[in-house]
Amino acid sequence: MAQLLDGKAVAKVLKEEIREEIAQWKEKGVQPKLAVILVGDDPASVVYARSKQKVSESLGMAFELFVMPGNTPETEVLAQIEKLNQDQNVHGIMIELPLPKGISKERVMAAVRPDKDVDGVHPINRGYILSGEEGLFPATPQSCIELLLRSGVQISGKHVVIVGRGETVGKPLVFLILKHNATVTICHSKTPDLGAFTRQADILIAAVGRAKLIKKEMIKPGAVVVDAGINETPEGICGDVDFAAAQEVAELISPVPGGVGSLTTALIMRNVLKGIVLQGGKQ
Ligand code: NAP
Repeated sequence: MAQLLDGKAVAKVLKEEIREEIAQWKEKGVQPKLAVILVGDDPASVVYARSKQKVSESLGMAFELFVMPGNTPETEVLAQIEKLNQDQNVHGIMIELPLPKGISKERVMAAVRPDKDVDGVHPINRGYILSGEEGLFPATPQSCIELLLRSGVQISGKHVVIVGRGETVGKPLVFLILKHNATVTICHSKTPDLGAFTRQADILIAAVGRAKLIKKEMIKPGAVVVDAGINETPEGICGDVDFAAAQEVAELISPVPGGVGSLTTALIMRNVLKGIVLQGGKQ
């Protein structure tokens, strides 16, 4: 029976480190601050924004939420971003998605200063992932890596198979995990005989958005399985891996919920702290 890759336990340690670092910045006269822009009233986005507020405040990070009505013109959203770009007291900016119709996600994302882009979606940060330079990178792929490393899994030299090449998880993860010297294979919806690839994985990472797509037979006995998927089903939230069956063959496996998703908010906070350094703050 597989052991769990316990996201909640890892998140707890991570949050303690972040709390400590925030305290150190405060001693140097810097109050780390995250600003979140929420356009419209998408119920899930409201919950996500509030949850970031709760975590920020519990760690000693300042937080400000800018709520704009759903019919706000794009120019006003861009003007608000520019104000935050220039505000020296704001170190991280996040735009909750989805944006209302009529507002270009691409233009909005590109408007955030790259060194305040804590979601890691600015084209410059995407370029830094490829080049290996320091930048701000998306939280979910970082969560997969932190969960592995902090659970004692060696990535270097392993064959990592990633299922999913989405912009949020799969694609950035390829380059982030390459930095850790894995051999990487990436699969997607046009991959024929997916199981033939996943069975070769020492570390299998699913980032698809299809409930229980990865069956027990698709996993090499003794493999480590990381499930980044979040799927709403009539039985509740589940991942991309058929968890109960996969537990019988994997050595380590992350649950959903309680796995990858448990780390993401903390990693956004860590990006705010990295942002301070990129903005010229002296550690
Ligand atoms: P996405 O952009 O929709 O990408 C999904 C990927 O899965 C695509 O590359 C797609 O292939 C591939 N795919 C779809 N059906 C497939 C199949 N039958 N076999 C193999 N590959 C298949 O998704 P995303 O935004 O990257 O997110 C991926 C998952 O992570 C979702 O479940 C999302 O909810 C979850 N997520 C979790 C967190 C977290 O905090 N844990 C955060 C963000 C996202 P094509 O490219 O060929 O279409």
